[in-house]
Amino acid sequence: MIQRLRLSVAALLWASAAFAAVQVVNERNDLTTDFRFKLVPAPARNDAAAQAVFTLIAGQKDANSGGLDTLHDGQLPRTEDAPRENFFFAAGTAGGQVQIDLGRVLAIKQVNTYSWHNGDRGPQVYTLYASNTQAAAPDHWKQIAHVDTRPKGDEPGGQYGVSISDSTGSLGPYRYLLLDIAPTETNDPFGNTFFSEIDVLAHNGPAPDAVATPPARAEMVEAEGGTFRFLIDTTEAPDLTDWAHTELAPVLREWYPRIVKLLPGEGYEAPRNVRIFFGADMTGLVAGTSGTRVYCAAPWCRQNLKGEAKGAIVHELVHVVQQYGRTRRKPNATPPPGWVTEGIADYIRWFIFEPQTHGAEIGARDRARVRYDASYRITANFLNWVATTYDPLIVKHLNAVTRAGRYDEALWQQRTGHTVQELGDEWKAALAKPPRSDQGHAGG
Ligand SMILES: [Zn+2]
Repeated sequence: MIQRLRLSVAALLWASAAFAAVQVVNERNDLTTDFRFKLVPAPARNDAAAQAVFTLIAGQKDANSGGLDTLHDGQLPRTEDAPRENFFFAAGTAGGQVQIDLGRVLAIKQVNTYSWHNGDRGPQVYTLYASNTQAAAPDHWKQIAHVDTRPKGDEPGGQYGVSISDSTGSLGPYRYLLLDIAPTETNDPFGNTFFSEIDVLAHNGPAPDAVATPPARAEMVEAEGGTFRFLIDTTEAPDLTDWAHTELAPVLREWYPRIVKLLPGEGYEAPRNVRIFFGADMTGLVAGTSGTRVYCAAPWCRQNLKGEAKGAIVHELVHVVQQYGRTRRKPNATPPPGWVTEGIADYIRWFIFEPQTHGAEIGARDRARVRYDASYRITANFLNWVATTYDPLIVKHLNAVTRAGRYDEALWQQRTGHTVQELGDEWKAALAKPPRSDQGHAGG
């Protein structure tokens, strides 16, 4: 794979020298649902690819992928993780080649490619070739352009649009096109791009008729004058749209910036664009976060609108600000201990966002057998005890070192004078004493 990428870079240099007139425009929208870009044209339904024959020349379609027809059926995926509505190569494989036979030679004005995914399968990496002879004769393929839309040092999710054209107005007269497609990453098996649509516009073709975008229910919410933006997507759970607008949006506006301030780090900038998606099929789940995407199970939220729904989403927002996943990319980094990750998220949720609910108090029955590293609300209770007993800044420091990939147990000794085991024992002894809340809590 590495060799193949190196080859691509070399090919790119060669291409830009030999075909200087070819222009590649690429745009990414990580919070949109409608495939509308500033420079890249909207996907068209009446382009020359609509009637073309698409053939798999190399590589293997993923079992969950839609067929090649999804690439030119004039239909777009409805969500950012819609396998059947896209075409993608099999998990763990190094991409492949798709040939487009336009049926006759056409002066090609543009080749536009569109993709959409919440993670590494969003960006596009491919080389476009053209020919007037069948694929059986590789010598006849002429390289037109190399495309690589992977963002640098950023979460890769979003809608991508690529437009390849030529300053003369035509890329040339061709009948066949070939996309030689590479995965965007090979750290895991899920690097093959979700291609949503491929358009080929003929030089003298009809005016493009834009594909109607699937109806989406999505509200854009801004915080701190647009510094932070959230897209709340209730397309799959339209009944939650009103609740999201009246109840969730104010929480995002107020609490995301607060969480960002609570969890700073040297040179660290928290994600500015966050997408919150309510999934209809997430039965048996509550919520989860991947990068800058928060997934909420619509069935669970529906049952907890008056109770835990907002708090569960605040917990996920903490994960967005933590961005501990980035430690994977750092050499020699210590992986974040899971109990620290979840303990901090629940600490902010239960002790800062909604202390009045006492949701992380530990019942009398459990006090004897809890452990500081039991994660979630138990660790949250421990962190709150350390913060109120020894070090009010413990969570801030714990987060900063963990995010930097430098979590080390020595931190506890440095900050409190005690090892984490000693702190755990002392905390349990304190829990055994009847807490004030047992005698009726004044609240707050
Ligand atoms: Zn969590």
